[in-house]
Amino acid sequence: MKRLAGEIALVTGSSRGIGKAIALALGREGAHVWVNYVSSPERAQAVVDEIRNAGGQATPIRFNVAVPEEIDLGIETILKETKKISILVNNAGITRDGLSARYSVEDWDAVQDTNLRGAFLTTQALLRPMMKERKGAVINIASIVGITGNAGQAAYCAAKAGMIGLTKSLAKELSSRNIRVNAVAPGFIDTDMTHELTPDQKEGILKQIPLGRTGTADEVAEAVVFLASPAANYITGQTLVVDGGMAM
Ligand code: NAP
Repeated sequence: MKRLAGEIALVTGSSRGIGKAIALALGREGAHVWVNYVSSPERAQAVVDEIRNAGGQATPIRFNVAVPEEIDLGIETILKETKKISILVNNAGITRDGLSARYSVEDWDAVQDTNLRGAFLTTQALLRPMMKERKGAVINIASIVGITGNAGQAAYCAAKAGMIGLTKSLAKELSSRNIRVNAVAPGFIDTDMTHELTPDQKEGILKQIPLGRTGTADEVAEAVVFLASPAANYITGQTLVVDGGMAM
């Protein structure tokens, strides 16, 4: 029996990396997955094809989570077709690293607008239909650096810490409507985002991971599927850390 049969899921930023693994995993569990992307339609279509070829249902949807009007239009398009979205994964994110003394306001805004404001506005656009259904699971992809902080990532850490606060506040607001809101905080996961690091930086990080290796996008996706599934029906407002023990 598939754990998410009959559910409709939207995964922001699911054309690559962790979002792609989440979309594939939700699709395997029977959810109809809306695969959101901003700049790579071919990759998004490839994710959709992979889900469909495995017998699942998926549809691509382009919108930029940093642009409020695009979010509204995207959600409107989805709801016209599927009437409801019962699982939302706010995964789309960017990093713009740099030391605070020289950090630009443009980079600060881009990081907040994509990671934090994008997650809030996408959730907000879905609240009415979710509240009407009296059912929903929202999962925000934060990061362990939102808990620990990290030199050279003040904007990103602030955005990810903000997502954890957002998760708890929304969980408190929405529990009475049977909408659960949780966060997943990955550690060091092998994706395009972390490929930008130098070999020295990677080696330094690996030394801090008790399990001795980087994580995979699939390992993050498993945590998301759990939080989206009925197995987590009594869990809300939590941050599940998936980091090989890095932030103990
Ligand atoms: P990634 O490989 O860089 O992929 C980013 C994804 O987000 C892509 O699908 C991209 O779409 C999409 N995206 C970027 N900006 C967007 C926007 N404005 N609107 C809509 N979609 C947008 O990143 P990743 O490593 O998989 O990270 C996914 C999430 O996990 C992020 O929130 C990240 O902060 C978080 N995270 C990652 C790690 C890690 O080690 N990798 C650790 C902790 C947390 P296009 O392909 O169309 O550009």
